Amino acid sequence: MDRDAISVDARRAEAEGGERKVQHLVQPTGIEAHITMNHVNQPEEMLSDRFLVSILEHAHDAIIATNDDGVLISWNKGAEALFGLPKAAAIGRPVEEVAGGEWPEQLPRLIAQIRRTGSAEGHLELICLRTDGKVISVELWMSPVPDDAGNPIGFSVVLRDIARRKRAERALRESEDRYRTVVETASDGIITIDAKSNILFFNPAAEQIFGYRADEITGRKITVLMPEVLGNRHTMSLQEYLETGQKHMPWTGIELTGLHRSGQEIPLEISFGEVYLEGRRLFTGIVRDVSVRKQAEETLQRNKNRLSLAVEVTGLGIYEHAVPLDEHTYHSDRWAEILGYQLDELPAPEDRLPWVIEQVHPEDRPKIEAAYTAFVEGRTPGYVVELRMRHKSGSWHWIRGYSKAMARNESGKVTRVLGVMEDITERKRSEERFRLAVEAAPNAMVMVDPGGRIVLANQQAEVLFGYGREQLLGMAIENLVPERFRGAHPDLRAEYFEAPVARPMGAGRDLFARRSDGSEFPVEIGLTPIQMPEGTFVLGAIVDTTVRKQLEDTLRQANQELEHRVAQRTKELIDANEKLERSNIELTRFAYIASHDLQTPLRSISGFVQLLQQDYHDQLDEQAHHWIDRVVYNTKRMKIQIEDLLAYSRVDSRARPFTEVELGLAFLDAVDSLSASILDANANVTCEDLPAVHGDRSQLVQLLQNLLENGIKYNTSARPAVHVAAEQNQDEWIVRVVDNGIGIDGRYGDQIFELFRRLHTQQAYPGTGIGLAVCRRIVHRHGGRIWVESDPGKGSVFYFSIPIERSAP
Ligand code: ADP
Repeated sequence: MDRDAISVDARRAEAEGGERKVQHLVQPTGIEAHITMNHVNQPEEMLSDRFLVSILEHAHDAIIATNDDGVLISWNKGAEALFGLPKAAAIGRPVEEVAGGEWPEQLPRLIAQIRRTGSAEGHLELICLRTDGKVISVELWMSPVPDDAGNPIGFSVVLRDIARRKRAERALRESEDRYRTVVETASDGIITIDAKSNILFFNPAAEQIFGYRADEITGRKITVLMPEVLGNRHTMSLQEYLETGQKHMPWTGIELTGLHRSGQEIPLEISFGEVYLEGRRLFTGIVRDVSVRKQAEETLQRNKNRLSLAVEVTGLGIYEHAVPLDEHTYHSDRWAEILGYQLDELPAPEDRLPWVIEQVHPEDRPKIEAAYTAFVEGRTPGYVVELRMRHKSGSWHWIRGYSKAMARNESGKVTRVLGVMEDITERKRSEERFRLAVEAAPNAMVMVDPGGRIVLANQQAEVLFGYGREQLLGMAIENLVPERFRGAHPDLRAEYFEAPVARPMGAGRDLFARRSDGSEFPVEIGLTPIQMPEGTFVLGAIVDTTVRKQLEDTLRQANQELEHRVAQRTKELIDANEKLERSNIELTRFAYIASHDLQTPLRSISGFVQLLQQDYHDQLDEQAHHWIDRVVYNTKRMKIQIEDLLAYSRVDSRARPFTEVELGLAFLDAVDSLSASILDANANVTCEDLPAVHGDRSQLVQLLQNLLENGIKYNTSARPAVHVAAEQNQDEWIVRVVDNGIGIDGRYGDQIFELFRRLHTQQAYPGTGIGLAVCRRIVHRHGGRIWVESDPGKGSVFYFSIPIERSAP
């Protein structure tokens, strides 16, 4: 038992028959313990008194006693320490003298109070001033000490330095605070359960992890926080552990799955501990949400996979070594494979570097040595070299090596190197093929690097620009641009490099180039961007367009001249046309006026001739009658001719606007007008379904009428037949009028449509030769054509076309 913790009230209980004595020890924490000593004999009692005296003497609390007058009669070690006053200096003095402060006043007052009230104990807290000037804060308990008769003979006083108690209390409080802070701020969840799996404690981190508040989860089963399977397992395992002490799994750092309030599973890392508290078996789990770590692990794994896939796919060989070389040199399998070896065929790691250098083509060795030295000495951050290395088969392979520093010492020198190696033989080969293709190109070609320097030029370029190949290579492309454009060129070039697209020749710009002698010439340039590991290069094909420009100029001139002539001729034609039209109009007008004006005298002639016939019939002889008959006949003919001519001229002068015309109805109108002739000739006039067309109705009636009339007239069959039909041909209607008449000699097929053109005498077939000319004029006005297909004796077919949906002229 801790000596510090004991304050001895040391009340000796009245022992009955001295047989039994109970010491009542009081701990400051309030936990009481009873020590019972049975059957204490008198001599032993003496002995025990000695113990008691020693205990009192050496107790850490101050224990003092006064007689009834308040004079100190006992002063233990604790009192010496508390008051800083040796026993010898205290004994025999009035109690109020041993300290200052509140002590001299309060203590006598307490004594007086106990005496007055007869109470068994008094208690005080007070500030005392020690004789050495130090201030102490004390708590004291005072009890009266009675004699056997019960009369007071003095007082016992136990004093405690409150400061120390306060310190202890504070320490306890602080430790509790610390514990609480730790528990509450812990990033790990802390959960305590009892042996029945009921949750007793749930810290804020656990709230975070599982999504439950402590107050709602406390008292519920821990299995709520587990997927069902794990919950069942937990219950069984805990039961078994409680019964047998057998653990089913290690209790630290186990990975288990938890169940969030939302139902989502959470990967957890858990450690368990068992605690006994007031006789209960409790279990505490420290729970960590490792989803983030799991994710990080997965990400890491993914990155590793990606990297290894990238390395595998790209076929890169990897190496890593210290500088200077030690046994921790690493070359990947692929690295060896690139040179045709198995890894175990290579020299020992520490001897490998000289061997590698040996495999480099002698011409390329200075290059790699210089690059490597500059790199390891810290002058360059890394290096990329392209060189030839000997393959195991003895052939040379083009290799591209890329090294970087993994570690450097304080002075910047490389101590560890990481690098990759790639077989670029194939690329080099295609580069060579490319170079040859460029060389063989018929145009001048140059390739520039992203900085605008010429890296490739073919022989044509040498010829075109007048520079030797050595001069061209490495030259800024601006040197090939005339001075007057040179300033702007780098900007144009930068602009192009920003969004490089293939630009074909002759993109519409007038470009000029400059020869080595300073002379300028016009060019056309085609550009092709080429992606290279070092960036975008541009291949330009250049064509000298001097000759072509000259030819173009000549051609342009000739063209202009031609255009001029055509324009002139067109104007002449238009003029002639206009003239023709004018004279046509005049002619039509003349025909109209002439025929119109001729009608009047003609009418008076026939009038007078009729008068002659009626009034002078008897006075005239045979001859005169015959002549008069001739006059009548001819005036009739002339009248018909004049009417026909009028009809001809009216095609234009009486033209009406176009409308929708049902040809079937026009046909009926025409037949109606011809009914007399049809009856006379005993003709059969028929038609099929005819379309509606856009045109001048009365003219279309006239057109059909003329054609039908001819079909009946030029017909010697006993039953003349004329048939009308139509069919569509693309965007026009073709109407045909078929007869079984005398037919027409093919030689005259076109002529019959001319004015006054006839194939027969008046005696054989009377007529004016105007009907078909009228037909043609009508058809032309409607934008169509008219023609005939016929053979003598086999009937005729007259065709005319009418455009479909033609707007009015
Ligand atoms: P006209 O009938 O007044 O002589 P046209 O212009 O109508 O004048 O005809 C011109 C000539 O074409 C006619 O004289 C005739 O010789 C010939 N012709 C016209 N239609 C037919 C036809 N259906 N069959 C045979 N010959 C025809």
